[in-house]
Amino acid sequence: MENETKMKNSENITKHNWERKMGRNRHLIGIGSWGWGKAGKFGFFLICSTLMIGCQSPNLSGDRKPDQPKVVVTNTIIGDLTAKVAADKVNLVSLLKPGDDPHVYEPTPQDSRALESAQLVLYNGYNLEPGIIRMMESTNRQGKRVAVGEVAKPLTLSKNGETVPDPHVWGDVKNVILMVGKIRDELTGISPENKAFFSQNGEQLIAELKKLDHAIAQKIQTIPPQNRRLVTTHDAFQYYGKAYGIEILGTLIGISTEEQPSAQTVKNLVTTIQKSQIPTIFAETTLNPNLIKTVAQEANVKLARTQLYSDSIDVRGSRGDSYIKMMQENTKTIVEGLGGR
Ligand SMILES: [Zn+2]
Repeated sequence: MENETKMKNSENITKHNWERKMGRNRHLIGIGSWGWGKAGKFGFFLICSTLMIGCQSPNLSGDRKPDQPKVVVTNTIIGDLTAKVAADKVNLVSLLKPGDDPHVYEPTPQDSRALESAQLVLYNGYNLEPGIIRMMESTNRQGKRVAVGEVAKPLTLSKNGETVPDPHVWGDVKNVILMVGKIRDELTGISPENKAFFSQNGEQLIAELKKLDHAIAQKIQTIPPQNRRLVTTHDAFQYYGKAYGIEILGTLIGISTEEQPSAQTVKNLVTTIQKSQIPTIFAETTLNPNLIKTVAQEANVKLARTQLYSDSIDVRGSRGDSYIKMMQENTKTIVEGLGGR
């Protein structure tokens, strides 16, 4: 029997709690639901006009066109893909903002209204966004709700002794190609007159994704084989690792960031890293980096200079403000950290 001491509260992995503890305003970092709910219409417009990814579509901010269908997306990755396929042909609303952690996101009453009034809701599924999924189950539905990520064949992981599907399907670009096809078809379903337009945008995006898939595979091959091993805070890179030939050596916590690592888990991870002789481990943008930093110090390895994007793209204008850029940036960080070129 394990008798493990949970990490003390000050080492909370979840960034939301961490930031709250640190007395930070999420506006400054993540632009989350907290800010969304309280900011009101003006705040919405302000955030939208400067930061929000979905705002790349002109219809996202104030200039709603009543004749166009309303599409609600949950996370920023699906938001980016949908914005690229739909462009200005739908009113697109993203519930999560760049930097938000979908595992612990707590939806607001405003989210509930958005979900109820949408003609189409595109969410990841495989329980990536439990708060939103719970809310969807308890709200009336007008339109269709589609778990876009569930077009991918799931890898599984064990959580509290149970085998569950891993929701981080976008780590394998081939899965995202399938997701884009699904998004295109669902958009066509609610707006058939734009079928050719969505098809063309989808095709263009899929062509870029195929290039990305190939480029990642090639870059990972430049890492010395013994270093092709990844240590991150939470277990979000299983699909990436399997697709591109990187072993997931260890993580502090599992597929959901709701968990907290035990002292024993931390100790075991330090030992594993020391034995493996990998040069670098990685923090993630949506999570508190303090504990993984401590692990790096104790194992006497480097912590990568830049953090990986695990479950969200970054704010507009930054280095990872689209799905494609996020994957390119992650690959660059991993390749540099593990001694590739
Ligand atoms: Zn995750």
